Amino acid sequence: MKAAGTSLSASRIAKSYVVGTVVTQVLAEVDFTAEPHALTLISGPSGCGKSTLLAILSGLLQPDSGEVLSMGTRLSKCSSAQLDGHRRAHTGFVFQGFNLFPALTALEQVLLPLQYLGVTGGKAQDQARAALNEVGLDHRLHHRPAHLSGGEQQRVAIARALAKRPQLLFADEPTSALDRRNGAAVIALLHGIARKHGTAVVCVSHDQRLIDHADLLYRMEDGRISDTSSRGRRLSS
Ligand code: ADP
Repeated sequence: MKAAGTSLSASRIAKSYVVGTVVTQVLAEVDFTAEPHALTLISGPSGCGKSTLLAILSGLLQPDSGEVLSMGTRLSKCSSAQLDGHRRAHTGFVFQGFNLFPALTALEQVLLPLQYLGVTGGKAQDQARAALNEVGLDHRLHHRPAHLSGGEQQRVAIARALAKRPQLLFADEPTSALDRRNGAAVIALLHGIARKHGTAVVCVSHDQRLIDHADLLYRMEDGRISDTSSRGRRLSS
């Protein structure tokens, strides 16, 4: 069922990986909801299934069973071309390792996904510069990754995700390669994006600092949601 205001919901998600003859169940009976204007955090120890869940929620991976409803689209009914189109139109991604192209300047990194969407010329320049301005990098437009700090590289990656104004922003361990100060800046940016643009920000992390900033927190253990809380208030267990 799609609740009012819900951007993303998943019900009864299950996923196993098969390696040789060994079948490992990674997710079981996972229900999940993310809403616009909110930072939703999936937290839990390494190996509990957080990245697998994020990949399923974003349509990068199909579950064995269960359903994901993303911006009104039932992902299990989509062809891979439709999933690509859905991701391009609605979602942005931020990864732990930044995933920037070494040869491109900050401005070019942000322009690239806009071009894939058919946004070009002055409009693309305006959107890319506005996104870099929002992450505080308007003075680094023409720098390549090798000449940017880790924190600055992650902010370029956030600007790249932000420039097309996605309704859904997925971030996988966005602070784990950063020191305390840069990690705090990235957390504040992600929270600000949710607040300012109404984006549903879905973040996977075992970073304790992120928990204080989450509007909605899903704690995972062994492939299951063990606890859900909203701004520190327990909703269910
Ligand atoms: P987390 O993000 O919480 O660290 P993951 O979702 O990355 O957890 O992984 C959950 C479990 O699934 C781990 O035991 C991991 O080794 C296993 N796993 C992840 N991806 C694959 C894969 N492609 N093939 C086989 N096993 C995998």
